[in-house]
Amino acid sequence: KAKISLAGVSKSYISENEVTQALHKINLDFYFGEFVAITGESGGGKSTLLNVIGGMTGYDDGEMYVDGEPTFQYDDADWEEYRRRKVGYIFQDYSLIGHYTVLDNIVSGLFAMGKSKEEAESLAMTYIEKVGLKGYETHPANELSSGQKQRLSIARALAKQTGVILADEPTGNLDSETGLSIVKLLKEISKECLVIMVTHNYEQVEPYVTRKIRLHEGVIISDIQVRESKENK
Ligand code: ADP
Ligand code: ADP
Repeated sequence: KAKISLAGVSKSYISENEVTQALHKINLDFYFGEFVAITGESGGGKSTLLNVIGGMTGYDDGEMYVDGEPTFQYDDADWEEYRRRKVGYIFQDYSLIGHYTVLDNIVSGLFAMGKSKEEAESLAMTYIEKVGLKGYETHPANELSSGQKQRLSIARALAKQTGVILADEPTGNLDSETGLSIVKLLKEISKECLVIMVTHNYEQVEPYVTRKIRLHEGVIISDIQVRESKENK
């Protein structure tokens, strides 16, 4: 059963006299255990697709199912709840709270989900260790290296335990060696998650991803299973 399913999903941006159809009748099923790369040239609709899946941008036609539940009728409050509980997001620029400690960057999101202090701190510690930041709990985020910042943002996304990790150009601000370590970490994570990543650097991720989807002018021009995902084994 698909974790996330898009059926005829379209999205247009309307600004002044211009209408841009960023996504045109997209059909896609995503499964637990997949590590998906979304590729294609600039303007193809990659970020829009990720933002629709992440509930950051609404869609205007078709239906998106999450765990079998339709979302087309969601109102603003439903989408807010969806972003809080259903997806973890990783951004190119990390989007951390710089003056917060490593620990507080993670627990603040968990408090918003209604977790107790004890539960939030225990979850945070688990994922801080998982991403290799043990010992940095009390460091302010803005004193971390860029690679460490991205590890923290991954820990923050994982600690929500949504089963879905969405990453928009997660290595875009990293040197190639640091970027590779982040890709390897995402690969590791995808064994127990669905990971969907937008990338401009497919060569870097090709040895790790299970699936490559190419978008051009809002249409899927290829969707290739590169290697077996855990679910398909
Ligand atoms: P990609 O991530 O592949 O570069 P985007 O999803 O960012 O593609 O953009 C797809 C199309 O939608 C482009 O033509 C872009 O100019 C347009 N677009 C994206 N965001 C907006 C927006 N907020 N308002 C108007 N047009 C937008
Ligand atoms: P990267 O190789 O990941 O780009 P940086 O150049 O960002 O690394 O950081 C290198 C080292 O400097 C890291 O170990 C980090 O802890 C430290 N550092 C980075 N920014 C600051 C800061 N604002 N204050 C204190 N230490 C910092």
